[in-house]
Amino acid sequence: MRPAVVGAGASGTLVAIHLLEAAVRQGMPLELTLVDPDEETGRGLAYGSRDRRHLLNVPAGGMSCFPDDPHHFVRWLADRGTAATVTSFVPRSLYGDYLAGTLKASAARAGTLLTLRRIHAHATDCSWSDGHARLGLSDGSSVTADHVVLATGSPSSDSSWAPAPLRTSPRFTAAPWAPGTLDHLRALDGDVLLVGTGLTAMDIALSLARPGRVIHALSRQGRLPQPHAAPSLPPVAPEESWSDLPLRRLRAKVHAHIRQVTAAQGDWRPALDGLRPLTNSLWAALPEPDRAEFLRDSLSLWNTHRHRMAPETAEAVSRIRRSGRLSLLKGEILAAAPTPDALTITLDGARSLRVAAVVDCTGPALRLQDGQNPLLDHMLSSGLIAPGPLGLGLACTAEGRLIPRNEPARPLRSLWTLGPTRRGELWESTAIPEIRRQAAALAQGLMSRATASDPAR
Ligand SMILES: Cc1cc2nc3c(=O)[nH]c(=O)nc-3n(C[C@H](O)[C@H](O)[C@H](O)COP(=O)(O)OP(=O)(O)OC[C@H]3O[C@@H](n4cnc5c(N)ncnc54)[C@H](O)[C@@H]3O)c2cc1C
Repeated sequence: MRPAVVGAGASGTLVAIHLLEAAVRQGMPLELTLVDPDEETGRGLAYGSRDRRHLLNVPAGGMSCFPDDPHHFVRWLADRGTAATVTSFVPRSLYGDYLAGTLKASAARAGTLLTLRRIHAHATDCSWSDGHARLGLSDGSSVTADHVVLATGSPSSDSSWAPAPLRTSPRFTAAPWAPGTLDHLRALDGDVLLVGTGLTAMDIALSLARPGRVIHALSRQGRLPQPHAAPSLPPVAPEESWSDLPLRRLRAKVHAHIRQVTAAQGDWRPALDGLRPLTNSLWAALPEPDRAEFLRDSLSLWNTHRHRMAPETAEAVSRIRRSGRLSLLKGEILAAAPTPDALTITLDGARSLRVAAVVDCTGPALRLQDGQNPLLDHMLSSGLIAPGPLGLGLACTAEGRLIPRNEPARPLRSLWTLGPTRRGELWESTAIPEIRRQAAALAQGLMSRATASDPAR
């Protein structure tokens, strides 16, 4: 079997690991190509930061590569001298090390069954003929494969909320996780404005806070992510089935469930955690106008309660707020004017700030944007793939097979995806507990197809 995986962040690395493990189980020779310009493997957007204050927002017990071996990550940490339990929140950089290390270990187990090519380039285009894919690469070369997996992650923010004088200013940072960005921001003198008050903004605030500097964090709602409870209580699922409810009734049911669990347990979190196994089927059953209404009216509330801060992060954020180094603002940017040594930012309510830098911490965009990823642009324009419902991610089947624009009823090519690109169909598709399950199922799906189509086996 000759698969090519585009993207070596968490999703691409997890699918590579599961392909190797499945190949070993089935004794199937595997020529695997992993394409990503990043020098490292397994880090992607989330696990590249080397700042030890940037913690995972899922406890270690939820982060194993293997859904059926939930303690694998905790054992890996212990083997490397990091004392952690299933409830620990460890630095994200360790998780990047873990993904790369696990891929290496799986490759070693596969031995001579495996040829692994790691190509450091962008895939720029994809075409199919005679059952084979040809991926064009930014270095002018190409890769031939019989299965292609797109693990290209979320679209980045296009910073379209920023007025033009801000977006074009050298004092504006559009991509806070790009290599070297935090060092550059740390070296500046003066206050900093973070746009966004979610998990990314809190991590950046912790990295940049220092005596004599105020970090302003601004969002329309001014909501911070909720903290995880320590210790946490087990999830509580709703007692009744909620299938096929319209959004208005579903919302009422969710609120009633939360009230009931909070009254019984003194904490709302077990109620929300109990919804997680149901979320994707509830989302799939909602008509598109209801999904659009949820995105418009409830997304901020959902994000701040569902994607929570590690308790240690919440404590550190409270400390910098108490000391006056972090100031939380609710509102919008109306205008920006560069001066020789700063930016003057005008906010609604006749407020203004003078800052050395403005950082876009609004996080990944929900919808694909033209011009960000030449490969996806090319595949969309040639009809090989199509946008997902409401423009979220890519259209795909329940197994993660990409649905071409031209033949929606029956995908013909072995073209797959996982992770954030499945968000239109699944909603809960951006965190490791979901991605690892998709990776295992996808690897098994490819193996079964390869076994079925190989008459020698
Ligand atoms: C800051 C942050 C912290 C998070 N923390 C957690 C956490 O603690 N726990 C948890 O469960 N989840 C967490 N998540 C969510 C989740 O793990 C991430 O969404 C994860 O990054 C998804 O991985 P990915 O590989 O799909 O995407 P990405 O990490 O974005 O990686 C995509 C990769 O694809 C490559 N690529 C894209 N296009 C091409 C192309 N054309 N050719 C070649 N390569 C290409 C990119 O270079 C990139 O390396 C976090 C997310 C973020 C952003």
